[in-house]
Amino acid sequence: MTIARPFSVAPFLFASLTLMAPFAVGRAQVSENLTPLLLAVQDAPVPFMGSDGQVHLVYELGMTNFSSAEIAVEKVEVVGDGFVLQTLDTAAVAGRLQPAGLRESAGTLAKSNHALLFLNVALAPGNKVPAELSHRVSLRVSAAPAGHQELSESGGATTVDKRSVALIGPPLDGERYIAADSCCDATRHTRAALPVNGRVWVAQRYAVDWEQMDAGGHIYTGPREKLESYAIFGQPVLAVANALVVSVIDGQPEQTPGSYPSNIALDAADGNSIILDLGEKRYALYAHLQPGSIKVHRGEKVHLGQLIGLVGDTGNSIVPHLHFQVTDGPSSLASNGLPYEISDFEVTGKSHGTEAFDQAESNGTPLPVTLLSPPRTVKGAMPLDQMIISFAGH
Ligand SMILES: [Zn+2]
Repeated sequence: MTIARPFSVAPFLFASLTLMAPFAVGRAQVSENLTPLLLAVQDAPVPFMGSDGQVHLVYELGMTNFSSAEIAVEKVEVVGDGFVLQTLDTAAVAGRLQPAGLRESAGTLAKSNHALLFLNVALAPGNKVPAELSHRVSLRVSAAPAGHQELSESGGATTVDKRSVALIGPPLDGERYIAADSCCDATRHTRAALPVNGRVWVAQRYAVDWEQMDAGGHIYTGPREKLESYAIFGQPVLAVANALVVSVIDGQPEQTPGSYPSNIALDAADGNSIILDLGEKRYALYAHLQPGSIKVHRGEKVHLGQLIGLVGDTGNSIVPHLHFQVTDGPSSLASNGLPYEISDFEVTGKSHGTEAFDQAESNGTPLPVTLLSPPRTVKGAMPLDQMIISFAGH
């Protein structure tokens, strides 16, 4: 049996479709173009203010290669209300396009494959936040006949989600905290797309792994395997708003710092954790707390700044830290990450990046930081990746 495959049978089809429509009596006057790369945005971006003073649009552009051979994505333009907001060249695409289920990026989609392009569109101060987004994509479609492989498509139209962003208090108190793996270009949280209960969620899209340095810039001093060696271990964790406690998990043991636990079940990944209902379908998750440290119960109301637990190293955790995120549902996985803005903090510097951070965390060497002098007071923004942050009173 011969099965007709798109492109392999139809150079004629490919070349002529756009020519036919205007002459067809009784047919709609719409040009018809093959779009072998299907584009779609599942979760529209919610604009928020970053600690860099820019409004960010963070979202994923889904790409499906509906053809029988590889497609190379050569350029992507993000268009807002008719204006190009951002242009990603081949190298930028290659760093941001991740095939479904993979954590490595690539600039090409294998035949019959799906991928997500992780986007972070930053708008300089004074620029209007667009109402509508679309995308122009330049492709090389290997399945198309010679001479027709270079294509341009538009798609992935979406309306920007202008719901109000949660304005919250700090989850911790004190100084020299590091916003590790925070928004928007670090990969561990922002790109943690997971298939759960029948759809893809990015619950950790705006999650932060909070860690802390001591006065000498060390994330830990003393034995690496000892919990007490870590600056953040035992720090009080605070309610970020007047809220209702909707989930408490306790009783998970501390891990040994320095390595991830093996064979941890999905429902134990958060370790000891709390979920607060902030109202308006916004939920805050605190994960990896010390066993026995949680001071609140499910159904209890808490107030802004209330001590609710202590930073630990439980669940799927390599060192003591606080994983904090806000989502649109009371679940740490089957919910969609939402941005939030912290009402008041200081940016005192920025680490030299994820790699430098990983080395400092692993070796106990001082974290290389570029200090901001003077520190910048920020009112109502999300602490972005690798910023060094002090919270109120310090
Ligand atoms: Zn985390």
